[in-house]
Amino acid sequence: MKIDKILCIIGLSSLMISCSAQRIEPQPTAGPPKTNAEPSRTAPKPAITQSHGVEFYRQNIGDITKNDNTISHGSIVSAKPQGYVISKSFFPAVAQNFRQRYLILHYTALDEEKSVRVLTQQAVSSHYLVNNLGDREIYQLVDENKRAYHAGVSAWRNDKNLNDTSIGIEIVNTGYILDSVGKKVFSPYDESQIKKVAALVKDIVERYQIPPVNILAHSDIAPTRKQDPGPMFPWKKLYDEYNIGMWYDEEMKQKFMNETTNESFAFEQNSIPFVTKVQNGLKKFGYDIVPTGVWNRENLKVVEAFQYRFRPEVHDGIVDRETWAILQALIQKYP
Ligand SMILES: [Zn+2]
Repeated sequence: MKIDKILCIIGLSSLMISCSAQRIEPQPTAGPPKTNAEPSRTAPKPAITQSHGVEFYRQNIGDITKNDNTISHGSIVSAKPQGYVISKSFFPAVAQNFRQRYLILHYTALDEEKSVRVLTQQAVSSHYLVNNLGDREIYQLVDENKRAYHAGVSAWRNDKNLNDTSIGIEIVNTGYILDSVGKKVFSPYDESQIKKVAALVKDIVERYQIPPVNILAHSDIAPTRKQDPGPMFPWKKLYDEYNIGMWYDEEMKQKFMNETTNESFAFEQNSIPFVTKVQNGLKKFGYDIVPTGVWNRENLKVVEAFQYRFRPEVHDGIVDRETWAILQALIQKYP
């Protein structure tokens, strides 16, 4: 029996991709790789053959444990062309990665019932919704392989429009109210809700190998528009107890604190060179900020977003000595 197989090889030096169809007699000893095969880290370079001026590997070099959707995640989507068979197990490409590279956390700023209604019936959505009912349920609203509309105009480090590359988790929390002097007062999160979020995040992050620097608040990726999940969200607890996301080392922060005194810091705090340095630091760390050397409404919101995340006790948008030391400690730890 003869079967059709498609071989696709990437020309490594030129980054040119060429594909051609070949007719191959199946070898009696060859078969689809075992699905429980261990990934080989030190596999020798496979033999290469030439055909039509293109190099082909002579054996299946794919690591099925990384490339087969059936193992890595639940949803499998393949074409079903009429009259043909899609052969998936024999030629998984080595050159691939997950589209899901970010995990973004939000609060809904609504109660449970309205959260469900808005996220399922309106122009916004998220992959998951974590209720505050103290039960063991987490709602999935969008398939992980599809885009949910949760991030909006957004950026982090070199990436933009993070809906394309992220999983979004909405957490039911009413957000904030303004007090009599116009200060935002944020709602706390329920302990059982945080446990749920942690379990969900851990599962997603492990499956897609999402690095700590890509586990972000909505306010990190859209700081001029968004505050969520806000300063009551316990990022430090998630880091300490579940090894989720980023946090600075206390010693490193102290080292940077000791480089200045309150007096010396106050002296240069608002100088153009120092403000530029702070803004460059925020940009280097990941925030979408244009260094101008002066503080304005927009870039002060970036400072506020940074404080919501890493210095939640005081989030006044003012870069004091401690905020500056935390920023530097983070840049050092997550370059
Ligand atoms: Zn949000």
